[in-house]
Amino acid sequence: MSGEMDKPLISLHLVDSDSSLAKVPDEAPKVGILGSGDFARSLATRLVGSGFKVVVGSRNPKRTAGLFPSAAQVTFQEEAVSSPEVIFVAVFREHYSSLCSLSEQLAGKILVDVSNPTEQEHLQHRESNAEYLASLFPTCTVVKAFNVISAWTLQAGPRDGNRQVPICSDQPEAKRAVSEMALTMGFMPMDMGSLASAREVEAMPLRLLPAWKVPTLLALGLFVCFYAYNFVRDVLQPYMQESQNKFFKLPVSVVNTTLPCVAYVLLSLVYLPGVLAAALQLRRGTKYQRFPDWLDHWLQHRKQIGLLSFFCAALHALYSFCLPLRRAHRYDLVNLAVKQVLANKSHLWVEEEVWRMEIYLSLGVLALGTLSLLAVTSLPSIANSLNWREFSFVQCVATSSAGNTDSGTRRPEFQSQDPHLPALHHQTSFLGSRSFCCSLVPVPTPYGHEDLSWTR
Ligand code: NAP
Repeated sequence: MSGEMDKPLISLHLVDSDSSLAKVPDEAPKVGILGSGDFARSLATRLVGSGFKVVVGSRNPKRTAGLFPSAAQVTFQEEAVSSPEVIFVAVFREHYSSLCSLSEQLAGKILVDVSNPTEQEHLQHRESNAEYLASLFPTCTVVKAFNVISAWTLQAGPRDGNRQVPICSDQPEAKRAVSEMALTMGFMPMDMGSLASAREVEAMPLRLLPAWKVPTLLALGLFVCFYAYNFVRDVLQPYMQESQNKFFKLPVSVVNTTLPCVAYVLLSLVYLPGVLAAALQLRRGTKYQRFPDWLDHWLQHRKQIGLLSFFCAALHALYSFCLPLRRAHRYDLVNLAVKQVLANKSHLWVEEEVWRMEIYLSLGVLALGTLSLLAVTSLPSIANSLNWREFSFVQCVATSSAGNTDSGTRRPEFQSQDPHLPALHHQTSFLGSRSFCCSLVPVPTPYGHEDLSWTR
């Protein structure tokens, strides 16, 4: 494996002394590309680097030849499609019809459709781009592939996250040929079935974090509700009842009080569906029944909800660090000192308050640390390196220490017991709230044992 990793993606005999891509051996398989735009250029570079002989078909080869690696031949479209068996169509859908004059030369060949529709085009056309291309060239075999790979990735080389290339075609042989090319180029082909799946494949790059939509809306909704509640309690009520202007608290204090509430509710929403699922299975007396759709979706979104909970907790930690930097805090400190002098107090030290604060802070840091551990083990590269037992162990240790710290619901951050020396301000700490104790019992599902931890 390490030998494989050491191997350069671009074979050395293809690289000139000036590091540009040079000659390709004559026996290398020949691949055609129609179009000379961004995608065509990156594709040509990757194909040449992977040992293919590339011929590019352009309407104006003189203008574009200088932009391609010297090993690639850039010529007119008719000449470019005459000899290769596999031809990439790197032009937009609206220009497919302009290629119809090449029908004769293209007969019997494999056309690889790499196009991506815009969102508007996707809604406008019921037929996928690949199916449209197939209808224009009935004597060719169309394969949909590489549309999810950007020109940048092709140029920079495949990376961990975006190596998968969904491929579909009605011709298994053609699909296999293109899959082998993808493998040679360092990508992971993924069989998506017949060309009827092309619409689904073309929709893939249009999606924007689909798994995050509901959890993000949920977190935002919770934030708005808690923020409104804290605003009424900490700002509006003192204003209405005591005419105290505390609107300055809106940007920092109220946000900081809101974040841990959201974090806790989200964390509890991570473990609650597992408890419900277990209860449902106990009630039904069987594990061989599907969960209702709403519960199924909830279970599937636990990882995102957990990560959003971690995000809120981390923001709360940052906001808490900033609290003493505020002008309001400094003025309060000075006022407190003045009041202390006026009250003829020379030494302010309330042992109980000091201890309470030390413990609050320590538990807060520990809670954030363990929540970070949960978040880190949700990274696929780390989760995959742990076996089931190790993963459950990390989950158990982390959630029990983050979830069992219990120090009351609301505390004064700095509260003197002297009635003349008022509290500076209040805040709810991440650990200052009574926490949700979560269950980590694996629940049997129709597919075996369900892991109820949020990171999987
Ligand atoms: P582009 O830079 O605009 O290039 C399009 C090429 O189409 C032109 O350079 C042109 O080359 C050729 N062409 C052929 N017939 C044409 C005509 N009648 N009118 C205008 N141009 C014509 O676009 P691109 O970014 O390379 O994208 C090409 C295809 O790859 C698109 O279908 C796109 O959806 C897909 N794709 C692109 C990316 C990306 O990251 N760019 C990623 C995935 C998929 P000649 O002038 O030399 O003929």
